[in-house]
Amino acid sequence: MDLRSHYPYWLLRHGIINVYPPLTENIKTDVVVMGGGITGALLAWHLCQAGIAAVVVDKRHIGMGSTAASTAMIQYEIDIPLYQLEKITGKKNAAQSYLLCYQSLLDLASICKSLKAYTGFAFKPSFQQASFKKDIAGLKKEQACRKKIGIPTEWLDEKIMQDRFGINKYGGLLSERAAELDPYGFTHALLYAAVQKGLRVFDRTKITAIEHSPKKVTLTTEDKRKIQAKYLVIACGYESQQYISKTVQRLHATYAIVSEPLSTAVGLWYKNCLMWETRLPYLYFRTTKDNRIIIGGKDDDKSPAARDAALPQKAKLLEKAFNRLLPHIAFKTDFEWAGTFASTKDGLPYIGVVPEHPRTFFGLGLGGNGITFGILAAQIIRDRILGKKNVSENLFGFNR
Ligand SMILES: Cc1cc2nc3c(=O)[nH]c(=O)nc-3n(C[C@H](O)[C@H](O)[C@H](O)COP(=O)(O)OP(=O)(O)OC[C@H]3O[C@@H](n4cnc5c(N)ncnc54)[C@H](O)[C@@H]3O)c2cc1C
Repeated sequence: MDLRSHYPYWLLRHGIINVYPPLTENIKTDVVVMGGGITGALLAWHLCQAGIAAVVVDKRHIGMGSTAASTAMIQYEIDIPLYQLEKITGKKNAAQSYLLCYQSLLDLASICKSLKAYTGFAFKPSFQQASFKKDIAGLKKEQACRKKIGIPTEWLDEKIMQDRFGINKYGGLLSERAAELDPYGFTHALLYAAVQKGLRVFDRTKITAIEHSPKKVTLTTEDKRKIQAKYLVIACGYESQQYISKTVQRLHATYAIVSEPLSTAVGLWYKNCLMWETRLPYLYFRTTKDNRIIIGGKDDDKSPAARDAALPQKAKLLEKAFNRLLPHIAFKTDFEWAGTFASTKDGLPYIGVVPEHPRTFFGLGLGGNGITFGILAAQIIRDRILGKKNVSENLFGFNR
């Protein structure tokens, strides 16, 4: 699948951080992770921390799938608000899903700290503004629901919003717990750390056949090499659907631009928090460590070819939408890119096993906060491989 256009910002900024060799011999391991994007890297890191022998294979260079295109706003908020998710999954499961995501931000912070490498991680609040006056009621309901489960938020009315953000809108919900990340740098940092603990990584190694049997899994590469493992984890992002009989995802196109560096990004708006809105598809933006502003949104259902053709026009629309909101900030687009992303009906990821493939786990961090879900996938699958029960696995299973 063509996951993204050619020039996402992170790739231009870093180039190829690390290259790993392709697989040239037959090997055996305990766990093979298919996919070296952010989810596969999180999985590999968690497995190695637990002392499990693992191998990562990727058909591209590391991190060059959807991960390189990500705008990496790290939020606990699931695409479906809590008060609506309660109606789909029941109150208890909805609360648990939100609380797990809420906790996972702290887990991510401690992983980044332990890596002692550049990850671009920083805590930032997030602010969801009401796009229309009629959205105020829903946001206030959401605030009440989150409060009940112990997630604090602050309602900012029109006046406070104008004072703090310079935006003349209807108010919105401020969440203190959110973060930003450099998804591509982080992926490489995770793998580098895991390699120090014995992980083996092979990129430009495409898996073309998988044989599942009750005692082992055997993968065959395009070059006819074999990898034999006790367990397989499929972390192929949006390309994982081909390995599952049930359709779990719907594909969309999404667009992003990044500004030229500003002379300073200090105090552009309140705490330079992550900004998003209630309108769907939502416009969102955040600052970067090198004083730029990344803006994303204008999603549609275009195919990858049509997506890339639409990019110049979509980039203009994103810039215009930002300028309308914050006309006093001199935003000039430096780079633009497009990507494919997948959503699920309930906004939740799919993590776990499917009956047709023994000894195989799926870690699919689908949805707008795929990175947060990637952390949960790594924790759940590590626990399952260690033979421990993870209380959250039923929430995200394929038979839900
Ligand atoms: C423009 C854009 C903005 C986004 N913004 C956000 C955001 O703000 N916050 C957020 O949380 N999420 C965001 N996302 C989603 C997030 O980027 C994804 O959830 C995340 O990158 C998925 O990572 P992954 O590792 O699962 O998939 P990928 O990065 O795609 O990695 C999967 C890997 O599997 C490999 N692979 C596939 N098939 C094979 C095979 N047969 N053999 C070997 N290897 C194989 C691929 O080469 C690929 O590298 C955004 C996505 C896009 C496109």
